[in-house]
Formats: sequence, structure tokens, C-alpha cells
Amino acid sequence: MPRDGHIHFTKILVCCLAMFAAQAGAADPTYDLYIANARVVVGDGKVLERASVGIVDDRITWVGPDEGGSGNAEVLINGEGKTVIPGLMDAHVHILSSDHLADEDSLNAYMSLIVPHWLEGMLLHGVTTIRTLGVPIRESRDVKRGIEAGAIQGPRVLTSGPGLTSPQGHPAATMFGQYPDLQRRFARVASNEAEARAAIVEVIEAGMDSPLKVIFEGGEPGGEPYSILGTPALRLPRELLKAAVDEAHSRDYRISVHTHTYEDALIAVQMGVDGLEHGVVSEPLPDDRLLEAMLERDIFLVSTLRLLEATNQLDDLPVAAANLKALHEGGVRVVAGSDTPGGWTVPGLNTIYELRLLVKAGLAPSEAIRAATYNAAVALEIEGDLGRVRKGLLADILVLSGNPLEDISVLHYPRYVIKGGEVVRGFE
Ligand SMILES: [Zn+2]
Repeated sequence: MPRDGHIHFTKILVCCLAMFAAQAGAADPTYDLYIANARVVVGDGKVLERASVGIVDDRITWVGPDEGGSGNAEVLINGEGKTVIPGLMDAHVHILSSDHLADEDSLNAYMSLIVPHWLEGMLLHGVTTIRTLGVPIRESRDVKRGIEAGAIQGPRVLTSGPGLTSPQGHPAATMFGQYPDLQRRFARVASNEAEARAAIVEVIEAGMDSPLKVIFEGGEPGGEPYSILGTPALRLPRELLKAAVDEAHSRDYRISVHTHTYEDALIAVQMGVDGLEHGVVSEPLPDDRLLEAMLERDIFLVSTLRLLEATNQLDDLPVAAANLKALHEGGVRVVAGSDTPGGWTVPGLNTIYELRLLVKAGLAPSEAIRAATYNAAVALEIEGDLGRVRKGLLADILVLSGNPLEDISVLHYPRYVIKGGEVVRGFE
């Protein structure tokens, strides 16, 4: 009957409207920040040529086609012609440079006057995570707390704390030889296996971050003289490196090792380390033993080419670059590290120069970006939270004009730097 029919129709209509409203609700959510229709470089090698990114609080909650969620976003960024990439990570930075330090007073002045500006400079250049090496325990904690509390504007900081070396090694005898008080703060020295293990335990219990750093460069007692920064230096005995690695691994920490020569790097890898800082800098790789040993356990290589350029070591630069390219092409995970502030460098900008040098060395721009995002996150064991533009991860994101996959130099002018969902630098 008409009347019943009408009722029936109304019921269906209400039902349908309710369903439509429910669907519209799912397809039209609220975001705190929404980037519409950009190219998205995920960080792990994938590229989405046209996608939108939604953020709620400090997390990425949507990466995919534009589904109209932009309408009620608090901050809306038009991504047309722009590229979204993960925030950059620099895995080798020294927030405290020894060049101007002689005592506690100079250290305190450096901490309060220089470090906050450096950290802010890094963040504003798009570096949203750094790993700092060779930093005393107290200053490591102060910087991390300062950033977490918002007192310092800067990237997320991981710190390996003081590095382990031999008493006649680098930097204990080279940079801090004249400053015994600072030497004790910036480095740990070991003359036997028990001391090497104790140093690792101390740094772990003080809350420093994995991977910890060991310096493995210098001569052998009674061997050829070897100097670092004009000072004779002895390498940590290999059994002590092994003891440090074993102690760290038993506590679920990784060790990455400063090396310079092929022999340093090969022995370090044989002693079980997880990563190399610098790698092989001063001589071409003579064979594939290092490559094969690194591939066997996915041992990463932190690049630091910029250090050679910034300190004018222009004979070593092409050698180190060719070695890095060969290891990269062989399948080694390359991680970007600038060794800021080695030489005359601008924190943050220096990281971008490192990526440009990776491209100059022969990596594709996408591989250079991967070295400073996903690869770095894997090396630092934070890939579950950072290093990709992916749903569920923390919203550390850069929005760039143009396409960094064609021209890496567009990294110089990020339109937006977003850390934990907050725009820390932005202009249309
Ligand atoms: Zn360094």
C-alpha cells in the first residue's frame, strides 16, 4: 500500500543516510595537520607520486590518496609541486667540540652559549634527529632533558656518551692530552679487558644510547709510529675491543667503531662490531674481505665525507668516496653522518652538504635521502618510530619545494620542518 510503502521507503532512507553519515565520518576525519597531494618520498626507497599525509598529535595517521580530510584540518598545506620526506637524521655529530675547551668553565660556557644555537640551527635546516658522540655523561643528559622539556629547540638527540679508547689513543691523548680533567669526562680509557667491560657497563647504566662508540685507530706498541692530529697515538688492543663488544651485546647494546685504515676496519668487523664510523678513509679497498664481512651481519657504515671536505683533506676525500660507493654498491647500509662541526661548518647545513657529497660519490639522490632517514633509523634502532613517512610513525617530516630526487640541493630550503607534528619552520 502507498502509505506502508512510504514508511518503508523513509526507513530505508534514514538507514541509508545513517550509513552515509558513518561513511562520511570515516572518510572525512579531523587532522591537526594535513598535507594534500604531494610527492611522498617514504624514506625506505618507495615513492608515492601523489599522496596526502595526515597528522594527529605527534603521529602520522594517514598516508594515501586525498580523501577529503583536508577540509577540517587545523593546518592545511597544499602539497602541489612539493615533496614530503622524513625529517633528516645525522648519525655523527659532536655537539661539544673540543677545539675551544680547556676546563670546566669553558665547557659550561660552551654548553650554555653555543650548544642551544647549534641545536636550533640543525632543526631549522630540517635535521630532526641527531646522534652525538664523545659527549660527557652529564652534558648528554642535560641536552636530552633540555630538548624534551622544550627549554632548547632542537632535534631529537641520541647520545653515545664518552667513547672508549686506549690511554694513549684518540681522543684521550690527542685532543685531551693536555686536559686530564676533560679527558676523563669526554672519554673512557681501558688498559685491560676488565676496564673495557667496566667502561661499557658504566656508560650503559648512565642511560646513554645504543650504539656506543669505541675508537679503534692508531699504532701498535713497538710498531710503526702513527700520529693523529700531530700526536702519537696507539690503538686499543683488539682483545679489548672484543671484550667491549661482548659486554655491550650481552646487554642488548650495539657498538660502532671509529676506524681510518683498512686494517682497523677489518679487525673491528672481525671483533664483532655493529657499525663503522668513517670506515676506510686513507687507502683504497684492496679486496672484498671487508665488504663480505660487513654484509654477513648487516654492519652499517656512517659516511662523514663532509669532514674531509671541511677540513681540507682533499687527497683523502675521493678515496673515501670511492670506498663508500664500492661498499654501497656491494650492499652495505650507508648511514649519513656529517661529523659536524669538524672544520668550518654550519650545523644543519653541514648535514645537507654530506648528502650532496653522497650524491657526488655516486649514490642516487633517493639513496642519499635513505642514508639520512630509514638507514639511519635502522642503525640507531629507532625505525619503529622514525625514519619513514608512514602511518603510525612519529610525524617528523619536511615539505620541500620541487623534487629532491632530481636535485638534492632543494634540501637547502625546506618550506616546512615538522617535528612531532609541530611546525617548527614554515612558509608557503
Ligand atoms: Zn667524529
